[in-house]
Amino acid sequence: MSTKFIFITGGVVSSLGKGLASASLAAILQARGFKVRLRKLDPYLNVDPGTMSPYQHGEVYVTDDGAETDLDLGHYERFTGVSARKSDNVTTGRIYSEVLAKERRGDYLGATVQVIPHVTDAIKEFVLSDLTDEDFVLCEIGGTVGDIESQPFLEAIRQLGNELGRSRTMYVHLTLLPYIPTAGELKTKPTQHSVKELLGVGIQADLLLCRASRHIDDSERKKIALFCNVPQERVVAALDVDNIYQVPVVYHEQGMDVEVCKYFGIDTKDGVDLSRWKEIDHKVRNPEGEVTIAIAGKYVQLLDAYKSLNEALRHGGFANNVKVNIKWLDSEVFETEEAINYLDGVNGILVPGGFGNRGTEGKIKAIQVAREKKIPFFGICFGMQMAVIETIRNIVGYKNSGSSELGDYEHNVVGLMTEWVKEGSTLKRYKDGDLGGTMRLGAYDCKLLEGSKVKNIYGNEMISERHRHRYEVNTSYEAALNKAGMNIVGRSPDGVLPEIVERPDHPWFVGVQFHPELKSKPFEPHPLFVSFIEAAVKQSRLV
Ligand code: GLN
Repeated sequence: MSTKFIFITGGVVSSLGKGLASASLAAILQARGFKVRLRKLDPYLNVDPGTMSPYQHGEVYVTDDGAETDLDLGHYERFTGVSARKSDNVTTGRIYSEVLAKERRGDYLGATVQVIPHVTDAIKEFVLSDLTDEDFVLCEIGGTVGDIESQPFLEAIRQLGNELGRSRTMYVHLTLLPYIPTAGELKTKPTQHSVKELLGVGIQADLLLCRASRHIDDSERKKIALFCNVPQERVVAALDVDNIYQVPVVYHEQGMDVEVCKYFGIDTKDGVDLSRWKEIDHKVRNPEGEVTIAIAGKYVQLLDAYKSLNEALRHGGFANNVKVNIKWLDSEVFETEEAINYLDGVNGILVPGGFGNRGTEGKIKAIQVAREKKIPFFGICFGMQMAVIETIRNIVGYKNSGSSELGDYEHNVVGLMTEWVKEGSTLKRYKDGDLGGTMRLGAYDCKLLEGSKVKNIYGNEMISERHRHRYEVNTSYEAALNKAGMNIVGRSPDGVLPEIVERPDHPWFVGVQFHPELKSKPFEPHPLFVSFIEAAVKQSRLV
């Protein structure tokens, strides 16, 4: 079958969960045996989200091939298991920088460079690039219809509908039906307006996915169908759910996959296998216990800032049949108060990735408590670096030690990495160079030490994990660390870069330089999270 393209736009308000909707639709098509790929077109001017504050934009999701992308790509991977690539996320900024670079090179041969056709051509090229035998490409357009920024993307997908033909393209529009209590009904007018707005740029929605807090009755669907020029059966309810992993099953129950297949003239008799999603839903609903994990972080006011981490911890819970409660703690509180006051009833402490000084001393204090009180501890990226500094300061006794990211110390236990090897070639970085796209990014192999706990956890000697950092633990302090009870148990295959530390004298104390949370899936929980939650369960039985 030739590749079909489903374009997903959003209307009425932002934050309707277009990413989840796209990921869930892909998951049910996959459950019908189709090969899917998900893409996101982001209308902002940043070349990628790598330089954006997590407060503004949430987590930066990193792909195996080293792209810093929108967090929706995390949903895509978690719902389909398909590894996202650089070619799955583009921004207006990247499109324009490519078009402008071409213009400077003279590639347009003297033409006046314009949004249509040059920018729209670049967008279309992107949508069609790097595909092989996918049955469906689901392409989410960021933002809300009507935004000035998204116009070129909408124009490009409109053109694609024409060029590829309507038998290969479908426009899905996600809207909201607000419930007005005084009227006692769901209101359809905002949806009508949004569909009209889309029509204004030449796109007639083929299917409406309507977010609603209650059942949409036939008369309401009929009204929407009539005013929006969509067949009634293609007005699909996206009812609120209390657990995101229910969404594929709920969409299926509303007939979403069948309607999409019918639109494309695809036979649906082969059926759908949603057992993986039903199993997860069962686990969410029937935990046999619960544990509480404290996350001592910096961006704790915005949960999206640690999206993948949040999900990976839940996945670890699924594997252990427990519910994982997360206690978000701004690490700054530990700078003025005793960390222990906040850690009552906590079965595990996690210090996540981070940048910059704020809250750092608090993180180090939280790690000290975890180490001394033998509370399971998981340090991720910055968290691992802080765990090493904690040991050097408090056990080795080098009080004036830290990371050169944070200041100038007598002992820079963590230092800037200016040169490293990727796939046989040396990558270099300069101290005052650009910030965007210059970190050690993407998947790197790591070799685990025989006899270590992590080797046992992974059950493998070679692993591959995703990175996003500039600084590295300085191995000149390795002997001191060993003496202080901390071992480097994972390294880059050439033995140069330390990737994992652990403490054999502690029930569970692991620090990793990479971001394991990016690879965890609900149906394939990451081994480190499974093991960490298992340790937290054991700890909960002790208290
Ligand atoms: N700021 C640290 C570094 O650049 C850690 C980054 C992270 O936690 N992702 O090395």
